[in-house]
Amino acid sequence: MDAFEELQHRIVACERCPELRAYCARIASEKKRAHRDDDYWGRPVPAFGDPAARALLVGLAPGAHGSNRTGRMFTGDASGVWLYRALHRAGYASQAEQRDRADGMRLRGALVSAALRCAPPGNAPTPSQLRNCFPYLQREIELLPELRVVVGLGAIGTRAAENALVAAGFAFARRHAFGHGAESVAHGARGSVVLLSSYHPSRQNTNTGVLTEPMLDAVFARARELSRGPSDP
Ligand code: SF4
Repeated sequence: MDAFEELQHRIVACERCPELRAYCARIASEKKRAHRDDDYWGRPVPAFGDPAARALLVGLAPGAHGSNRTGRMFTGDASGVWLYRALHRAGYASQAEQRDRADGMRLRGALVSAALRCAPPGNAPTPSQLRNCFPYLQREIELLPELRVVVGLGAIGTRAAENALVAAGFAFARRHAFGHGAESVAHGARGSVVLLSSYHPSRQNTNTGVLTEPMLDAVFARARELSRGPSDP
């Protein structure tokens, strides 16, 4: 098992936030009527995608009946519908439709992660829960030697990404101000990484027009441009 796989195994077995573990287990046992026949994952959700990615996406946390049910980042809820369609259009995802861990989706050049790996009540993590989970994101950044761009999805994901880049040895000339499409450059011993922020593709944003598909496409087109590798078309 390599270091990346070992890290993901540690995440899935993590018990650092007992209240979140209890909450996720309760949701997994109670279920939602629409998913009553599903076998909920109910554990911390590992990162999903290419372990040699040049683009890292950092969301907020698993949804109670999304990733906490399917066991894969951004899979099984409305946010995932928007995210993977956009990743497919940008050339990172093998298909636009996502359903569960067995849907055949493959990511090339991108890794999808989050500030928190367990679903928090009300989608609202506490500062201590974010602190507990933070080392996992830092370690993922350290384990991506070809990393060129980090896309923060939402303000909390973006802030976690910024802090994790700094903890992993990168330095920003100025603090990153969150805004859709905002960019900052971080410099490190192994080159520069651009932090790019996006509004989160949550239902609150997509249903109200705060975030549109062209807006999300613009962010991933820019990420694609920044993360293009030597073997990419
Ligand atoms: S949120 Fe993170 S640190 Fe807390 S239990 Fe889940 S995986 Fe562990």
